[in-house]
Amino acid sequence: MPSPILISACLLGQPVRYDGGANGVSQHPVLAAWLAAGRVLALCPELAGGLPVPRPPAERLRDAQGRERVLDVHGRDVTAAFEAGAEQALSLAREHGVRLAVLKEGSPSCGSGYVYDGSFSRRRVPGRGLTAERLMQAGIQVFSEHELEAAQRWLQALEAGDDLAAAAAAAAPTPRRKELDES
Ligand code: SF4
Repeated sequence: MPSPILISACLLGQPVRYDGGANGVSQHPVLAAWLAAGRVLALCPELAGGLPVPRPPAERLRDAQGRERVLDVHGRDVTAAFEAGAEQALSLAREHGVRLAVLKEGSPSCGSGYVYDGSFSRRRVPGRGLTAERLMQAGIQVFSEHELEAAQRWLQALEAGDDLAAAAAAAAPTPRRKELDES
């Protein structure tokens, strides 16, 4: 039985974003095919960590002591909830044998190529959200919603036992990653 693919719940149209919105891309042919095959496991790490909808926007930053924290726009430290959500995502992934996740780019939980810099001025910096980071550290391949074709190539190669093709799919520069690499 093929392993499920962990997807950010907001990418599936679930209204779980901080402002009660969603970023649904479930009409994308790759995601639609995974949904039709029953391979999708949806999770919002921030809700899993106990945060409500709506909630103040939050961003990752490094404080004066060099500690990684997540603060909301009012200065409240929400690191513990973000870490709890990342742990929930990892245990769900392990329980179901997940090898691949597609997570919402830019989020302090789900971002895999960039996050916002902690100044709440919409300034992007290369980096990862807590959940994406935790999954990657555990050896789970993470792509963003801008990389669905690359994610599919990676999965097909993995399931065909072609490690070299999977590595090439994971490393191939996508438009979004290329833009970051050049910034
Ligand atoms: S934590 Fe992830 S799944 Fe939840 S709203 Fe943010 S980006 Fe979407």
